[in-house]
Amino acid sequence: MTINRSKVVIVGAGLVGSSTAFSLITQGVCDEVMIIDINKNKARGEVMDLCHCVEYLNRNVKVVEGDYTDCGDADIVVITAGAPPKPGQSRLDTLELSAKIVKTIVEPIMASGFKGHFIVVSNPVDVIAYYVYKLSGLPKNQVIGTGTAMDSARLKYFIGELINVDPRSVQGYTMGEHGDSQMCPWSHVTVGGKRIYDILEDNPEYKDVDLDEIVRRVTRVGFDILEVKGTTSYGIATTAAGIIKAIMNDENKIIPVSTLLEGEFGESDVFCGVPVILNRSGVKDVVEVHMTEEERARFKNSVAVIRDYSQKLMDKI
Ligand code: NAD
Repeated sequence: MTINRSKVVIVGAGLVGSSTAFSLITQGVCDEVMIIDINKNKARGEVMDLCHCVEYLNRNVKVVEGDYTDCGDADIVVITAGAPPKPGQSRLDTLELSAKIVKTIVEPIMASGFKGHFIVVSNPVDVIAYYVYKLSGLPKNQVIGTGTAMDSARLKYFIGELINVDPRSVQGYTMGEHGDSQMCPWSHVTVGGKRIYDILEDNPEYKDVDLDEIVRRVTRVGFDILEVKGTTSYGIATTAAGIIKAIMNDENKIIPVSTLLEGEFGESDVFCGVPVILNRSGVKDVVEVHMTEEERARFKNSVAVIRDYSQKLMDKI
């Protein structure tokens, strides 16, 4: 009998890719992490550095450099190659370059015989995830964009900070584009089971809280971080590791990720952030929350932004 080793490949050894590798090995999520980058020295440097963590980890995770031909037996390939937006650019402005890069990655990976899951992090993540889905020909449940998973973590953090509770006691998420048009279905946000609307109503000190401003803060904060440190890395890396853990450990955990909609929420042929159940099959199911009319309109508007860019990309190629 042979026991299969679990293997995660990270393409792109930049800040996001190397932080994702660090998060995976410190949490002992898999047996092996392989790193690939067009800049081979960068990949080699990260691998050498990460290898030396093993003594103080709770398991011996193997960290190696690799090539696309080594992806055939990988369970998951994480795509973090790309260029973060420059000051003044939106995530959508990086689309053309990201799409070019991703094509040079996905084609050789598929040629290696890869049959696992793609986790797409490169921005604009919803459009790029759609492109990876088209390029790879893999079933829709196996191509996952990080979508609004990190935005949702930020949302929970800001709510937790506002009312002084652990962000993990907040239930809620943003949906739609990982970008400016994302929205929050506030009618589904609860803290310890209590609706956020009731919390605000019951506590006079929150009478001036503007929930829309919290969503604006969620969309803005990535750029605030970008301005002072050049990119965001730890939040997204931990988010990617959380998604990978849910798949590897067959958790059936609900996380809002970017997935292909086929009729859910009345939308089709578009990748966007929605809550899904994640397990070893990847996206097992979309959680179709019932939204108010206003929430539906905001969601529709966000989906239209993604669809427009996805269409423009598909027309170009
Ligand atoms: P970075 O510049 O630090 O790293 C990018 C890496 O990709 C570099 O090491 C580069 O050599 C490599 N690369 C470029 N072209 C390649 C190719 N053709 N093949 C293999 N490797 C290639 O950038 P970063 O800060 O790590 O960000 C990476 C991507 O992640 C960007 O698209 C960024 O916008 C995105 N990002 C997404 C989120 C999210 O929530 N989805 C959050 C943060 C960053």
